[in-house]
Amino acid sequence: MIHRVVQHCLCLLLVVLAAQAQAADKPNIVILATGGTIAGSAESQTQAGYTSGQVGVDILINAVPQIKDIANISGEQVANVGSQDMSDAIWLKLAARVNALAAKSDVDGIVITHGTDTLEETSYFLNLVVNSSKPVVMTAAMRPSTALSADGPLNIYNAVAVAADKNAANRGVLVVANDDIHGARSFTKTSTTDVQTFKSIEYGLVGVSLYGQNRWFRGPFHKHTNASEFSVDGVEKLPRVDVIYITADVSPDLITAAVSNGAKGIVTAGVGNGNMTGPALEAVKAAIKDGVVVVRASRVTSGAVGRNVEVSDDETGSVAAAELHPARARVLLKLALLKTTDTAKIQQYFYTY
Ligand code: ASP
Repeated sequence: MIHRVVQHCLCLLLVVLAAQAQAADKPNIVILATGGTIAGSAESQTQAGYTSGQVGVDILINAVPQIKDIANISGEQVANVGSQDMSDAIWLKLAARVNALAAKSDVDGIVITHGTDTLEETSYFLNLVVNSSKPVVMTAAMRPSTALSADGPLNIYNAVAVAADKNAANRGVLVVANDDIHGARSFTKTSTTDVQTFKSIEYGLVGVSLYGQNRWFRGPFHKHTNASEFSVDGVEKLPRVDVIYITADVSPDLITAAVSNGAKGIVTAGVGNGNMTGPALEAVKAAIKDGVVVVRASRVTSGAVGRNVEVSDDETGSVAAAELHPARARVLLKLALLKTTDTAKIQQYFYTY
């Protein structure tokens, strides 16, 4: 009898040790959920209308049990909003959490679920303020979790496979969606509804992930993460920066209103090479005289805004956004204004980051 009990205990011990060895073999990945359509739900599987940010992180994780074959997974809910409601406050909270987790020796990578609407901004923000070379991978979905052929589960699976891949380190914050791996600086949301919405038009893909098998093509050229000089450690509030969309005959008082409402920076989403009407340019010059930093970006999808092309930045005192589109230019200007208002320095940031 005693002999059989000892045998039973030994078997149990072996099972526990084998499970522990298996867990030790796998990387530890933390999934931070912030909401978005990936966590959205609708009344039926086929309707277009839905509400973002309804489903919690545990449900997202349990919908893809296969990720546990790739990594040891834990999850945290940082926010649960449609990313149209993403805010400086959530960015600061998210950045603090990512930095704290990335500093832990028992965390190998981080996956962040997010809405597609403002993913360009959040990923670029984190790309500048995360102080780690460990993989930080963001993912999203175009169809809510309750839809027919929801795209979220495979995106989460691939995002975990990328975060668990040592080759993902040192590439800055990555965005995984619809089998593609994008750099945080370079992709654009190109369709309001298409599952293949994200495209890296100017620079191309960083890689692809097909059912968790990753192929790598390139690393980002611009500075990021642990090479970045930006930090939001201890920062409680980011400076106000407004984007003004330029059109034919735009009302220049939009620029004046931004200044009188407390903007410390303005990004113009200009026409063509960051151009604007004469009266808008006069309003920009007045804003600069008032100490506001103005960055000229473009509403065009690709190409760069160059210094002194049709607008003389040297005379106006403005900064050219280079390849950064207006929403990303706004992120960089917010972080730059934490350090300086020197436009020569800020211009260098736009070339470097
Ligand atoms: N409005 C949603 C969001 O950004 C859209 C999406 O996630 O696809 O949260």
